[in-house]
Amino acid sequence: NQGPVTVLGLGMMGAALANAFVQNGNPTTVWNRSAGKADALVAQGAVLAADVRQAIEASPVVVACVSTYEVLNDLLAGAATELKGKVVVNLTSGTPEDARALAVWAEQNGVRYLDGAIMAVPQMIGLPQALIFYAGAQELFAEHEDLLKPLAGTNVYLGTDTGVPMIYDLGLLSLLWSSLAGYFHAVSLVNSAGVSAEAFTPFALTWIEHVITPAIPQSAQEIDSANFETEVSSLGVNKAAIEHLVATSRQLGINSDFSAAIQALIERRVAQGHAGHSLASLVEAFKQG
Ligand code: NDP
Repeated sequence: NQGPVTVLGLGMMGAALANAFVQNGNPTTVWNRSAGKADALVAQGAVLAADVRQAIEASPVVVACVSTYEVLNDLLAGAATELKGKVVVNLTSGTPEDARALAVWAEQNGVRYLDGAIMAVPQMIGLPQALIFYAGAQELFAEHEDLLKPLAGTNVYLGTDTGVPMIYDLGLLSLLWSSLAGYFHAVSLVNSAGVSAEAFTPFALTWIEHVITPAIPQSAQEIDSANFETEVSSLGVNKAAIEHLVATSRQLGINSDFSAAIQALIERRVAQGHAGHSLASLVEAFKQG
């Protein structure tokens, strides 16, 4: 689908999105607060609009990617008249509530709204490994799926609740940050014994492959069936082990906040009588707030 499209916001991500449309042959109109960021795109054939209203008028579909919802809400509110009847595909990151509130505003203003969460860095846009989650009216997504294809190899529709893409996004970021933080903590420990990060890393990768990766689908099964019986590694055993981790970190002068937070979750579940249950039962500790 090489239909016309407008891109609002030409930061690192917005420029990559606009470039993907231009390379695909879509007539692409762009707008950015700092107009100079459009130069390279204009040289490739994009049209720079003088202001947001003109940009919106140029195409039936407006893809928005600015820094925050606060910024986007102001931009859209200033062009409510021009937006009537248009489709807004918002790829700005925020909270699920930000996305739901904007969907309500769109509905009230006669704007058809899709919310999306980009699980990629700008360099990945347009490549098969780029993933974008979408939500909004199903027929709206079906109608525009082809138009959005140049942006990512995988486009996943998650339903009508426009808060859900950000929930997936935040969940995957939580996984990213906590797993990398675990690695950084591990490296701090081995560094204290004079072992380099590179010398330790093959063991980290093997551990991820043979222990952590299989534990995820196993945990999913336990969580969905609410059956946390285990003969492998109970919370009781982990409680003792994490005490050693926290104590050793403190003794070495290594920050132990991250492991102490996990320790607190384990201790809470053990205190609630779940010492014999698996690590997956920590999901209940998260849900308890
Ligand atoms: P940048 O900081 O590169 O760009 C921010 C964009 O927002 C620019 O177009 C900037 O305009 C615009 N902007 C900021 N404040 C205002 C304002 N007051 N009025 C008008 N425009 C404004 O960020 P990215 O492009 O990297 O990120 C954009 C969105 O994409 C964010 O929500 C981010 O979380 C999300 N995202 C980014 C990823 C990445 O790896 N970069 C990955 C996944 C999602 P100007 O150029 O004039 O400053």
